[in-house]
Amino acid sequence: MAMKSLIGLSAAEISAFIGPAGFNIKHSVSVAHSIYKKGISDIRLIEKVPEKLKELLNENFSTGIFPPVESGLSNDGTIKYLFRTSDGRLFESVFIPDNKRNTVCVSTQSGCRMGCSFCVTARYGFHGNLSAGEIINQVISIPEAQKVTHVVLMGMGEPMDNLDNVLKACSILTAGWGLSLSPRNITVSTVGITPGIEKFLAVSKCNLALSLFSPFSLERKTMIPAEIKYPVKGILELLRNYPVSKNRRLSLAYVMLKNLNDTERHLSELKSLIGGSGIRVNLLPYHPTGNDLHSSSSPERMIYFKHNLVISGISASIRKSRGVDISAACGLLAAGLK
Ligand code: SF4
Repeated sequence: MAMKSLIGLSAAEISAFIGPAGFNIKHSVSVAHSIYKKGISDIRLIEKVPEKLKELLNENFSTGIFPPVESGLSNDGTIKYLFRTSDGRLFESVFIPDNKRNTVCVSTQSGCRMGCSFCVTARYGFHGNLSAGEIINQVISIPEAQKVTHVVLMGMGEPMDNLDNVLKACSILTAGWGLSLSPRNITVSTVGITPGIEKFLAVSKCNLALSLFSPFSLERKTMIPAEIKYPVKGILELLRNYPVSKNRRLSLAYVMLKNLNDTERHLSELKSLIGGSGIRVNLLPYHPTGNDLHSSSSPERMIYFKHNLVISGISASIRKSRGVDISAACGLLAAGLK
């Protein structure tokens, strides 16, 4: 039988196990530090704890840290990693260096069941949720772990479809005994699952990014099936009325497709939907694959959109494509998986 993993446990959960054997919360924090801050994968190397505690842990746990099985380096410095769980589930994550900001984009599921038509991960199908430990492992097991400043949960999977594990992972990323990252440096992305968003906003302080695709429900339904059950207008209303903390960023990801969602009609509706709400817009180029008939909006059109949003008082930016040559860019994860 597979041993339980330490990765994915909180300091309190470690305490609950080691307390009855006479060890205290300081020991739990030392164990958590060794796992989360140092990425120590061998229990015998855990720092600042008695040998007897290591023996106790070794008899009952593995660290649960496992390295990627493959990696690919883009010519822009982006690195894509492939992970395989012990039961064979595959998932990818991406390390994106950018001056002083080093971001890891992690997966929350192996594949996805949301069926968005523009996304390669949807074509791979759904192969299971990732545990909180498997989500955190993507940050701490890579060679660049000590350089990571930001984490985005925007890889394979819909985070709100695996919310308990996502919330647990966010708490480990931000805890003092965990990775000690600021919630401002963590962004969870969603195509819009209303009950999940409500719970996420209530429980976590991390940022939220909503994939819009189109401000028109009929069009959005054709690309994002979640729109049928959870219309985005209701979600934007929820975000608009949410008491936004200065420390939390709510944003829209708007993937731009030529002549499909980049017209004046779309721009005008987008402005009226979120004007005055404080919600930011990230404009993203589209990455066509295979026999795709769609193409990305031109850089000029994206600049035009950004300019018009900004002069309407809406904060907007254009996100650079990273790792396109290794299928690591947005919407391309799982491109090589079977
Ligand atoms: S865009 Fe996100 S939610 Fe939609 S299929 Fe792809 S991974 Fe899933």
